[in-house]
Amino acid sequence: MKPALTILTALLLAPLATSAAPDASGQKPNIIFMLADDIGYGDLGCYGATRVKTPHCDRLAREGCRFTDAHAPSAVCTPTRYAFMTGEYAWRRQGTGILPGNAGLIIEPGRVTVPSLLKQAGYTTGVVGKWHLGLGTTPTDYNVEIKPGPLEIGFDYAWLLPATGDRTPCVWVENHRVVGLDPADPIRLDYSVKRGEPRSFVNGIPRIGEQVGGRAALWKDDEIADVIAGKAVAFMERSKDGPFFLYLATHDIHVPRVPNARFKGTSGCGVRGDAIHSFDWTVGQVLAALDRLDLTGNTLLIVTSDNGGVLDNNGPDMEHGIGSPDANEGHLFNGPLRGVKGTAYEGGTRVPFIARWPGRIPPGTSDALVCHADMLASVAALTGRELPEAAGPDSFNVLAALLGDKAGREHLVEHAHSNVLALRVGPWKLVPAAAAGAGKGKRGGKRGPAAAELYNLADDLGETRDVADRHPEVVREMTERLEQIRERGRTRP
Ligand code: CA
Repeated sequence: MKPALTILTALLLAPLATSAAPDASGQKPNIIFMLADDIGYGDLGCYGATRVKTPHCDRLAREGCRFTDAHAPSAVCTPTRYAFMTGEYAWRRQGTGILPGNAGLIIEPGRVTVPSLLKQAGYTTGVVGKWHLGLGTTPTDYNVEIKPGPLEIGFDYAWLLPATGDRTPCVWVENHRVVGLDPADPIRLDYSVKRGEPRSFVNGIPRIGEQVGGRAALWKDDEIADVIAGKAVAFMERSKDGPFFLYLATHDIHVPRVPNARFKGTSGCGVRGDAIHSFDWTVGQVLAALDRLDLTGNTLLIVTSDNGGVLDNNGPDMEHGIGSPDANEGHLFNGPLRGVKGTAYEGGTRVPFIARWPGRIPPGTSDALVCHADMLASVAALTGRELPEAAGPDSFNVLAALLGDKAGREHLVEHAHSNVLALRVGPWKLVPAAAAGAGKGKRGGKRGPAAAELYNLADDLGETRDVADRHPEVVREMTERLEQIRERGRTRP
């Protein structure tokens, strides 16, 4: 098929049509945005997985809408979270790459964010789980009041795993303080220490960066999922008179994968599969709490992932609970997609995305193109708030798509590791010259041939047939458009 690219170019600069309106009753729904870490497109039963069992995610998919072309704004962690929170593609902003655990907050207080907008709309706002957007000012001092952080950009409450499970500090932060810190044993971090060096071990597991001190405050790796689920449910209970917004970011299924003993061996495809079972259990805890608190009917619940799947991150932690290829037992973690976390192919950013709001979202599936960066404009529309001109430059109002209308985004920049950018327009996927070959290496993105690659996802979802030679005009036009998107500084009309 040959797309009418000139029409698509015009659409780039035109507002997206949307028929969505705030709840007719005037009632604002609770909103829960649940972000998994490193769950791939093929990791859930409702997306085709057969080896692992995900009954709670599958229930959600039956009761809600399962999106088949939803994307994380980036193929790695920090930039995805940045773009979700601000509605701005992270590649526009220096310093938004994968952060060390001693990095300061990368979102300036005062910016319009998803939580700050919802707080203004009358919501109680909370974040529970993995943060990885920096805390305080660089280098973070974890022994004092840690500011600025989530409470300075719109959240009323925060319970945080500060960076990642495989980065120090390995402690919980509640609001402005490390939980259980003994002042006589202050935390000091040394990020010149690489994972696997003798000084990198915490709880017997190699981390990125050394942590000295804070021993009484150390988290227990096999209890991370339970603690996060417990704090999330407690926030829901406290806020049940609503409306509330909960950003629930799990550590599952990022490395180090140390699922609780009750999940060990349950998947039959290695510890990675067991970690998926742990993630699904967390989804189940949220569903049960909503039912118990009689909030299911008035809650928009979204479950998705921060980037595509990856089997393991290699390195010396292989022996510490990270699945080896032969332990995966044929489980296709990214389903039919090419590429993995970090790459410019669809396996880098296309992720599971399930949205449930009983009575408002018709159960089914949707092939609408949506992105986590769209949450800002979409919740603004949902709550009847005007988004300021400068806010959310790459955030489209896709509320109509979330509510079951077909209209989604018309184009999307797919952001791979090392700021490699690919472009989606309709069925076309351009992997520009600099990025061609991304995914051929383990993390991809920087090597490969000089020629751009073009795929038609309508009949080649797996990006197996490069048709750039057959459609040079499409390659030229999409290459120019990507340059326009970079130069214009925004994509929102
Ligand atoms: Ca991730």
